[in-house]
Amino acid sequence: MNKGLLEVDEALERLLAGARPLRDRESVPTLQATGRVLAEAQRSGMNVPPMDNSAMDGYALRRADAAAAGARLKVAQRIPAGSVGRPLAPGTAARIFTGAPVPEGADAIVMQEHCTVEGDAVTINKVPAPGEWIRRAGSDIRAGDTILPAGVRLRPQDTGLAASIGIAALPVVRTVKLGLFFTGDELVMPGDPLPPGRIYNSNRFTLNGLARIFGCDVRDYGIVPDSLEATRETLRRAALECDMIVTSGGVSVGDADFVKPAVEAEGELLMWRIAMKPGRPLAFGRVGQAAFLGLPGNPVSSFVTFLVFVRPFLLRTQGIAEVRPRGIDARADFDWPEPDPRREFLRVKWNARGGLDLYPTQDSAVLMSTAWADGLVDNPAGHAVRAGDTVRFLGYSELYG
Ligand code: AMP
Ligand code: MG
Repeated sequence: MNKGLLEVDEALERLLAGARPLRDRESVPTLQATGRVLAEAQRSGMNVPPMDNSAMDGYALRRADAAAAGARLKVAQRIPAGSVGRPLAPGTAARIFTGAPVPEGADAIVMQEHCTVEGDAVTINKVPAPGEWIRRAGSDIRAGDTILPAGVRLRPQDTGLAASIGIAALPVVRTVKLGLFFTGDELVMPGDPLPPGRIYNSNRFTLNGLARIFGCDVRDYGIVPDSLEATRETLRRAALECDMIVTSGGVSVGDADFVKPAVEAEGELLMWRIAMKPGRPLAFGRVGQAAFLGLPGNPVSSFVTFLVFVRPFLLRTQGIAEVRPRGIDARADFDWPEPDPRREFLRVKWNARGGLDLYPTQDSAVLMSTAWADGLVDNPAGHAVRAGDTVRFLGYSELYG
């Protein structure tokens, strides 16, 4: 059906087979580790919480002393969070606050709302259940537990979890140095006047933003003219400085497309025409130590091919275990009666009814569709969609994770 075209999954397999996960690691303070990729699983050397503590502001007591409602106990001590009380004498209670260690001998906490205080005595108006409002030592994390696996990008809550067991620094994978350049004599930077026949270099912004979302150290070589010499020179420079080079434009087979011959001259290249829409051409190769991925120049195509191909390749290079998006099943609130024979990535947005709306123009030159959307529907080749059908949704929130 797609003669001469390579299927998306096949291309992804081949790409991932060519990815080399970075071996170098470094230790970073836990406070700076969000967004980095954890290089080694982390185990806890301690219990969390480290001791039995109170989940409420109230009174710690021995249940035997409050077997019936209305028991009156002497308040013999006060235990704020951060301090350690004395063993609880029988017949007494301890004023206790949330997070404070439960004194030895106490077997329940009565919340203050169920107590009446008079002078130095407290009346217990409700009979406590065994262990009530006591958070047990190790009830969150037990010593020896694995708290974080290797190969995950650390989120804020992961660094908080590491900190909760006293980890001050984490082993992470070195940051990927990602080179970017943009081919095309028609390109102009925003801020400069736009002469007739020229367009703004929007891909520079999209691809820089994507590279930063994935925590890359970006080396941006800017606009490269449509010439073999300029393309080769930029490639040579980037290959010395980067782990990976991603470019936009110049991978078609027009007279002004110099990426293919330039990469072939400086390294090795595979050119693929992929059975997907948007984004047909994709170049994959190597220049020196650097992996090379050449994306189409069309802004929608370069955005989508980045998400579909560069993202998993980059994640694999970063040492991330899970590189394929799971996607979710969602209800299409649109018709797509004339599907393309190629696999399509349709720009869609959630509506208030919990279904997906389709951007009215799916033309790959319409960059508005990508900004309007919440994500992409991954629509199988030749698959017509009718309103109410279940489709596979790849949300930006998952793809950017
Ligand atoms: P190419 O892949 O070089 O043939 O470019 C395909 C289309 O994308 C052409 O219409 C180009 O003008 C456009 N294009 C190429 N590079 C960029 C860019 N960096 N920003 C916006 N549009 C671009
Ligand atoms: Mg071009």
